[in-house]
Amino acid sequence: MSSTGFTGFTLQFRDLPAVRHVARRLHNFPDCDMGPGRKYKFHLHRQRIRISEILYSGKRTTVYLGRCTNGTEVVLKFTDPEDILAEAGAYDVMADIQGTAVPYIYGVLHGKDRKGGKMSCLVMERFGTPLWREFRTLTKQDKAKILDKLVAIHHTGLHHMDFAERNVLVEGDDYRIVDFESAEEHEPSCSWTYKFIDHVDDDDVNDQDPCVDCYAVKSWAEQMEFWDHGRLLLCNAIFAPKSDKLPSQSVVDSMETFIGLNMKTVYYPEETKKITVRYFEEVQRRLKGGQPLEELQEQRDWITYLVHKQWHEERAKLLSKMVAAHHAGLLHLDFAERNVLVKDGDYRIIDLVHVKPHDPPCTWTYDFEEHLEDEEVDDMGPTVQCRSLKSWAEQMQFWDHGVVLVCRTLLIPKSNRLPPRHIMDDLITPIGVGQNSDYYVDDRKEIAVEYYTMIWEEMQSGMTLEEAKQHRNYFTYLAHTKWHAARNEVYVLGLVWTIGLDRLTANYLCHLEIPNDCFELHKLYYT
Ligand SMILES: [Zn+2]
Ligand SMILES: [Zn+2]
Ligand SMILES: [Zn+2]
Repeated sequence: MSSTGFTGFTLQFRDLPAVRHVARRLHNFPDCDMGPGRKYKFHLHRQRIRISEILYSGKRTTVYLGRCTNGTEVVLKFTDPEDILAEAGAYDVMADIQGTAVPYIYGVLHGKDRKGGKMSCLVMERFGTPLWREFRTLTKQDKAKILDKLVAIHHTGLHHMDFAERNVLVEGDDYRIVDFESAEEHEPSCSWTYKFIDHVDDDDVNDQDPCVDCYAVKSWAEQMEFWDHGRLLLCNAIFAPKSDKLPSQSVVDSMETFIGLNMKTVYYPEETKKITVRYFEEVQRRLKGGQPLEELQEQRDWITYLVHKQWHEERAKLLSKMVAAHHAGLLHLDFAERNVLVKDGDYRIIDLVHVKPHDPPCTWTYDFEEHLEDEEVDDMGPTVQCRSLKSWAEQMQFWDHGVVLVCRTLLIPKSNRLPPRHIMDDLITPIGVGQNSDYYVDDRKEIAVEYYTMIWEEMQSGMTLEEAKQHRNYFTYLAHTKWHAARNEVYVLGLVWTIGLDRLTANYLCHLEIPNDCFELHKLYYT
């Protein structure tokens, strides 16, 4: 109880670092008194709540972690009073599913800031942490759990207008959906009765089924890729139609491999897909041949290597056939995949209707099979004097021309600011993946360059590859931070920090689960 005789709640903000945040506007910061509103019952007895952490800080909204006198942790969300009331109203409507689909709500507190303006906060149960990964990377079981909670919300008559990863909390294997500021009434009331958890094994949804009659729920399920529509997801990146030649999704998931890495050639998406499919076909062949899955899992790298090797040799062999045809005096005018026959790993080029004499005779003597490791062809070399052969090789992307594939999917120009290829392959990081912000391919390329450049600089001043590997997450974080800082905003791990880089204190770094031994490196970059 404060000296003014106030009998409401006292929120103690003094443990927070001296950064700008919404509640600082309250009149007697670092302690402020707030009382429960009359509209909603408050389910905590009056006491002092110590605020220990800022969980989220945005332009209008700040979310704090508080601790009650009995040790219970609560989350306090400060934002515009109208929004707080709207959200409290939504939670009121969802009274029956508080504690199962949405967090339990203690109520709303009101106070005044220094200028007499109204301040309000919603006080709720602390539940887990925001989901820091994309929905599509969750297991089907987990997708079902989240979707069934959305359905429960719909059945209370509300429609979440901002359903996204950042508004899902995870704790252990359970979830809660939050942020109902902009929730709207569900009109007409939801008639969806399909239970996702009962359909985890389904490939597809039956669109005609009367129980799937809610456009919003269905589009969320599609967005989360709940149904696979007869497709397999290979290596978390490539879709292929299901077939007898390919193993089941669960085997596929247990046999993930790095297609297109640790190899010198660059793969374009179509080729990566072909090699990936071949890899899983080989897995399926071996499974059908009786090889146990555990053994195959151990041989993953080996099988990946074999599939690659075969693919490269095929290309070189095919080009050698073309060279032979040229030396025999023939120029093929319609070279395309449909005109190549393959049998037992050997090739025949067909459709010789489109052939004319090679005039003057071909002077090409470059042997493709001897140049599998080359990045580029020497254009001035006397061995490559045939425009036609050269353009075929280009079409087949035999040379990589100084681009390098990083992090599985990004092609970036080679440069001496970047580490050698094999080091980059050892330091793969999910750039922009598992983040709640959307990154376009070009953004991800820039971040990847930032990431590898930073690491290479450090390695040249003594950091070992092992150390670099250990600090992969940290460098990823730094690369992101630097990239966003250049855009006057810092999105880190799905949280929006508007506090400025100079204020990224150890406290925040702890919150972001960055290991202590990173602080030295941190200083190196930002002090
Ligand atoms: Zn609905
Ligand atoms: Zn390869
Ligand atoms: Zn030629």
